[in-house]
Amino acid sequence: MSQTPVVTRFAPSPTGALHIGGARTALFNWLYARGRGGKFLLRIEDTDRARSTPENTQAILDGLTWLGLDWDGEPISQAAGAERHAEVARRMLADGTAYKCFSTQQEIEAFREEARAKGGSTLFRSPWRDVAEADHPDAPFAIRIKAPRDGATTIRDEVQGEITIGNDQLDDMVLLRSDGSPVYMLAVVVDDHDMGVTHVIRGDDHMTNAFRQAMIYRAMGWDLPVFAHVPLIFGPDGKKLSKRHGATGAAEYQQMGYPAAGMRNYLTRLGWSHGDAEFFSDAEARDWFDLGGIGKSPARFDTKKLENLCRQHIAVADDAALLHETEAFLDATGQLSLTRAQRDGLLRAMPHLKDRAKIFPELLEKAHFVLTERPIEPDAKSAKALDDVSRGILAELTPQLQTASWEREALEGVVTALAEVHGLGLGKIAGPLRAALAGRMVSPSVFDMMLVLGRDESVARIGDAAA
Ligand code: GLU
Repeated sequence: MSQTPVVTRFAPSPTGALHIGGARTALFNWLYARGRGGKFLLRIEDTDRARSTPENTQAILDGLTWLGLDWDGEPISQAAGAERHAEVARRMLADGTAYKCFSTQQEIEAFREEARAKGGSTLFRSPWRDVAEADHPDAPFAIRIKAPRDGATTIRDEVQGEITIGNDQLDDMVLLRSDGSPVYMLAVVVDDHDMGVTHVIRGDDHMTNAFRQAMIYRAMGWDLPVFAHVPLIFGPDGKKLSKRHGATGAAEYQQMGYPAAGMRNYLTRLGWSHGDAEFFSDAEARDWFDLGGIGKSPARFDTKKLENLCRQHIAVADDAALLHETEAFLDATGQLSLTRAQRDGLLRAMPHLKDRAKIFPELLEKAHFVLTERPIEPDAKSAKALDDVSRGILAELTPQLQTASWEREALEGVVTALAEVHGLGLGKIAGPLRAALAGRMVSPSVFDMMLVLGRDESVARIGDAAA
């Protein structure tokens, strides 16, 4: 038995950059498709000509690319499909599931005012619904759908369950305006149908739209997609996530240096769960992701959890991949690109940099010792560790390091023995050593640094500091 292949889509309106909520919607669609050998399509809902800009579209594509959410085929422009959308409205007209409405804007307004005054429903009831073609004036008209007036409509939603509304809540919505332009609701349905979308996963702010969209599917005799309306994301205070809560744009997280893998993991968990799994790989997420795991109540954005997952993802990441991502971060934030020597140093140091960093700036801070060159300029804090006494100890240490075997145990032995001779704890020597090798208080352990730097460079740096 062959099943229809899964096709999902992300349909952002390019009226702004990619925000966290949109990124999560895209991610859910991507996971659902990728976990089932399906397709993940992109549709740019650019019908709002005044507010849609190519820059916003590019920013959305960049955000998805950063998050590693690759889409199939070229992004589709909704605006480019206007003629096709209009054609469907005319098809419905010919089929009798839609009708020509000659009511003017003023008449509609007058209807609403009267309804408000009477305290009745303000849903417009067009007087043209059942008027025969022969009685139509020669005047501009809109095409309206013939909405069911009696009974009820039920939509099965994979997240919200079965939702029913009375059909008296549906109006004969306009499909094609009198200027010939299709409305958004029609465009969405036609596009989803033509793109072969099988699953519509989106924010639950679109739940009521689903009822209006379902009317069009039914009028056209098209199969409804599976709907999954995901609760919106809240801030820690339980209110809809907004700028008040801090960064809300995906690009802002990229600029702050969060790793994409950690971001994916966190956003996957934001409103979806799989048992008590918190930290997981992309492969696991793809295997596990399902619509049944999406929660019914809004998830709260929690920066601490995000950081915690990012830290774990950096810790387990492959060194070369991390180097690549670190360079991408430098590039995205307009910082200088690495020299060959810096890149080599960073790769060698990576095992000692990645165990506690949650964002790339932290990793880079710790990496200062391989990114800098002699003479090391200690910053104010670490310069304090270099007094006359410690310089003397460093001077004693250099010849010993010249002959020591260059491996951790031997190096620890040499330094510990010297500390004992001076009746000092190891820490009292590690401070000046750190200042000599890194010029910073934040660095890997002095022995890790020596091993990464090698004998010549380490001895030279210590010698510089002792002089
Ligand atoms: N363009 C809509 C939005 O950005 C999405 C519509 C849909 O997914 O059907 O919210």
